[in-house]
Amino acid sequence: MRIAKVLSSKEAGFQKRKGVITLLEKILRKIRSWQRLPKEFQELLSAAEKAMENGYAPRSGFLVGAAVLDESGEIITGSNYEMMASTVSVCAERAAVVNANSRGYWRLRAIATIARGRDSPTRKVTLPCGSCLQMLAEAAQRASYDLEVILSTTHRDAILVTRISKLLPSPFLGTRNLLESGAREEVQEVETVLAETNQ
Ligand SMILES: [Zn+2]
Repeated sequence: MRIAKVLSSKEAGFQKRKGVITLLEKILRKIRSWQRLPKEFQELLSAAEKAMENGYAPRSGFLVGAAVLDESGEIITGSNYEMMASTVSVCAERAAVVNANSRGYWRLRAIATIARGRDSPTRKVTLPCGSCLQMLAEAAQRASYDLEVILSTTHRDAILVTRISKLLPSPFLGTRNLLESGAREEVQEVETVLAETNQ
């Protein structure tokens, strides 16, 4: 009787956890194993892993590597570059996007990132910061493609495959955001004031 009770509470706990995972999967699309990752994403993640070792993080010791995939198949990488004045530090994701653009690659299709601590691997995937999400959302808009985002732990034991629209559903896109949210009147009002000011 007691065993049955313990089992049923265990089962309930499992179902509850399963429910949470299912919800997370719905939100973030899918958690995959390395073996089940498409070959192009494996290559992208391997490139990000190499770039991670070139990260520069004297303050935190947290190294991040990113790699973007252009529609041409070209892979371009970036590493984090941490400064003593933290506000001028550059994240790996943004470094990769800017590096790609400087070589003429901006029709981006995917980005992969991987990170590690100074002396320890990450146990959870590292999500891009808000600034990087914004840049990725704008890069996606420029490329007219909902970027695939592949996030991996240091040892590739957890890999999350999602889309930029899932991670940042409402990026700032200037007055377009307001127009899309139905605030046409407010936008027209602002434009009228601006026009009058400029006269
Ligand atoms: Zn960032």
